[in-house]
Amino acid sequence: MKRYVVGVDVGGTHTKLALLDLRGRILAKDSFLTRAYKKEEIVKAISDASAGLIAKRGLKKKDILGIGIGVPGLVDFKKGLVFYFVNIPAWKDVPLKKKIEKATGLTTFVDNDVKVMALGEIAYGAGKGRSNVICMTLGTGVGGALIIDGKMRRGASLVAGEIGHIPINENGARCNCGGAGCLEAYVGREYFLDNIRRELKSGAKSLVRVMVKNRLSRIQPEIMMDAALKGDAFAKRKWEEMGTHIGSALVGVVNFINPGIIIIGGGIAEAERFIFGAIRKTIAKRAMKVQGKAVKVLKAKLGNDAGVIGAAEMVKRSLQ
Ligand SMILES: [Zn+2]
Repeated sequence: MKRYVVGVDVGGTHTKLALLDLRGRILAKDSFLTRAYKKEEIVKAISDASAGLIAKRGLKKKDILGIGIGVPGLVDFKKGLVFYFVNIPAWKDVPLKKKIEKATGLTTFVDNDVKVMALGEIAYGAGKGRSNVICMTLGTGVGGALIIDGKMRRGASLVAGEIGHIPINENGARCNCGGAGCLEAYVGREYFLDNIRRELKSGAKSLVRVMVKNRLSRIQPEIMMDAALKGDAFAKRKWEEMGTHIGSALVGVVNFINPGIIIIGGGIAEAERFIFGAIRKTIAKRAMKVQGKAVKVLKAKLGNDAGVIGAAEMVKRSLQ
């Protein structure tokens, strides 16, 4: 009986792997530094680590339903083709599904990491039992996924969900994607921090300056959170601005998609208490009444394990 699944989460820093049962319970874990391997070497690293996890529990290949892999980047889910990896710029148009299947002999599914996380959240997390869900992650980039009527929606090129590249200002700053005024160009980690450094350079008063001993390059989201916790008005305002920007993009999403729930995860979502209020306020104030009333904004629940749990869920769903 195939009663186990391997979930893989290829992250910017660490690649995490887990062996799970069909109820999403983690039985064993492993991880390696993503950057320690170059391009093709990652295929072998994932394959070896998966074999290690399976052997560790005394299992055989025949016990394994498949391998699910979430990667940061644009993915053609049907072919298991990664157009590009956000964290491995030189590796493009990679048929990762085929490569892993060849290396492991196990059925493999590959998708964008936020789509994978969304599957985990609707199965076991903040979106349990919900069928109209928008998922969003806040970090270096801003990712998204949409589930409508219980199904993951992928679009014409299978890359739907790029919520970070919804423009919120048509005359806005250039964005990494080639567009301008995208949400990510305001709330993506580096853009957010650059904007803070600029304001401090031009004389804004804040505790943050003291906390980093005037070395503005040391400012990190964690420091902005600490400063806000200590009551620093500047830090609180910057978080609130972030919430308002996110809320503005979400007003469009809420009006257009009519989701019942918006789940927000990723490292920067840890600043929930300083961001979510402004997000909810902006939606309440500006979204159309019927859609605005229907939607709840919640923090993702599965935390660090979301990637591997979601990857396992993807395998289960894909084979059902
Ligand atoms: Zn963009």
